[in-house]
Amino acid sequence: MFDFDEHERLLLSKFKARGYWTAVVRAEGLDKDKGVFNVNTKNMIKAARFPGIYAVLPMPFSDHYNVLFGAEDLSLSDDDVKQRIRDDIERLSFRGSKVKFKEFVEFHNHSPFGPYVEVDDIRNGFYQNLNKLQGRHSTYYIGTALSGPSTPDCWDHVADLVNDYFPANNPASRRSDEL
Ligand SMILES: Cc1cc2nc3c(=O)[nH]c(=O)nc-3n(C[C@H](O)[C@H](O)[C@H](O)COP(=O)(O)OP(=O)(O)OC[C@H]3O[C@@H](n4cnc5c(N)ncnc54)[C@H](O)[C@@H]3O)c2cc1C
Repeated sequence: MFDFDEHERLLLSKFKARGYWTAVVRAEGLDKDKGVFNVNTKNMIKAARFPGIYAVLPMPFSDHYNVLFGAEDLSLSDDDVKQRIRDDIERLSFRGSKVKFKEFVEFHNHSPFGPYVEVDDIRNGFYQNLNKLQGRHSTYYIGTALSGPSTPDCWDHVADLVNDYFPANNPASRRSDEL
């Protein structure tokens, strides 16, 4: 367990996180070959409003779809999310027929997801201050909170960190595109 000092606690407590759920559902009436994406068609720069479904993606099993659901914060319960997924799917219609939600086959809560800080905190030097923590108390910080959302981003950040702080010829310091 980390024993943060006041400086670390104040800085790291600025992190917020989003809600993220994934599910496999059975539904009838959706297109078997095409995914449904939640976009703001009036303004493509502004994303769709959340909480809501990101996408409903067909799977290689009859009437099975992978649903990705996001929320701006962590206030929704799993039951709320299930109800919203059900309602949103049943609002869809294809070729004049309403889509019928059947059941959840799988349902997983991956929250808290996508750690981030507010724009003003970034303007005020949040990431510079976070980088200054590297090596302090012999501690190094890695993970998507620092590097970005995908696993290769994590490994590239770790490689850069090893190169910066331990610049010996270390095979672990190769970036993901060199492996
Ligand atoms: C559904 C889903 C699908 C994804 N698909 C992809 C993909 O296809 N490709 C891709 O590149 N990335 C994908 N990602 C993202 C990828 O999983 C993350 O980028 C990566 O796992 C983040 O690594 P991390 O070390 O930052 O965090 P994590 O892997 O979340 O590790 C954090 C660890 O800290 C532990 N922990 C948390 N709190 C505490 C505490 N208080 N004390 C002790 N331990 C604690 C957790 O149990 C966890 O083991 C996906 C993520 C999700 C949720």
